[in-house]
Amino acid sequence: MQQKTVQAVMVKGAREVSVETQIISWDEEQVLVRVERGGICGSDIHYFQHGKAGMSVLKSPMVLGHEFVGVVEQAPSTSPLRTGQLVAINPSQPCQQCNICRSGRQNLCRSMRFMGSAQFFPHVNGGFAQYVVVSPQQCVPYAEYADAKIIAFAEPLAVCIHALKQAGNLAGSRVLVTGAGPIGCLIIAAALASGATEVIATDISERCRALAVTMGASAAYDPRDEIMCSSWAADGGLFDVCFEASGAAAAIASVVSYTRPAGIIVQLGMGTAEVNYPVGPLLVKEIQLRGSFRFIDEFTTAVRWLESGKINPLPLLSAEFSMEDAVTALETASDKESAAKIQLTF
Ligand code: ZN
Repeated sequence: MQQKTVQAVMVKGAREVSVETQIISWDEEQVLVRVERGGICGSDIHYFQHGKAGMSVLKSPMVLGHEFVGVVEQAPSTSPLRTGQLVAINPSQPCQQCNICRSGRQNLCRSMRFMGSAQFFPHVNGGFAQYVVVSPQQCVPYAEYADAKIIAFAEPLAVCIHALKQAGNLAGSRVLVTGAGPIGCLIIAAALASGATEVIATDISERCRALAVTMGASAAYDPRDEIMCSSWAADGGLFDVCFEASGAAAAIASVVSYTRPAGIIVQLGMGTAEVNYPVGPLLVKEIQLRGSFRFIDEFTTAVRWLESGKINPLPLLSAEFSMEDAVTALETASDKESAAKIQLTF
């Protein structure tokens, strides 16, 4: 067992985030990675603001962060990883033993140890630290010509590629994306890269709507624009597939009327509000409502898409801060009107 003292961005509760000294240890089967940079996700912001993210409540201090890239510092001699290799870190650690894992649905593992998540107790520390210890399977090597700023989008892009997979073949389809934060915007680009002919977006923020268009949406509307939105409900619904990425109750209910008969709705916005759900139109139109949570092997696909330039996420990168300024970075990331994706450097 080897040990190292590192600085890490720790959350202890609502509005309690600080850079703390932490001792990490690893054995000869694990990989020590020097973290280069990481993106702040909505769940990091929720832990910072409320001490919880969705149904995951902080019960003890935890290192934040699950979107990060780094450089291999030390790797097992049995793995193909070498010191100096650039890697994106897959934050998923499913048990690989249970029936769900063995059926190939590792993202749904009840014993998942997801980095930087308080879903289960003890919590799993995240990657917002100078160094982290991971397994060789979590390391996805990427080419030196690729920009770490771009590869740090692998985790959110993996979420989007998994959501696309839930929808099935998008070739020739007309798509609506409700919620144009970083996830909604990446879905727009990924849907177009997967053959969708047209993507329309909605968001209440003008800034997000502009980003949606930059990322490839043919148009983006304010969901409060009733004249435009009600036109989507004509003839039983305009869209073949709707990706609901806002989690807002009004959006969750409204996409049912915008989706064509026998169309598909993929829900990935984590809504917390009660929804008055239009069950009637759902069943009369035989709409398929599908949940989408995290990702499986789409993480590696995401790294390849970013490395090859199939998707350019850089319009979503609003600013970067060094880890010492983590609180300012989290404050900035919390304000949707001024920032999309914020990255930390270590
Ligand atoms: Zn499992």
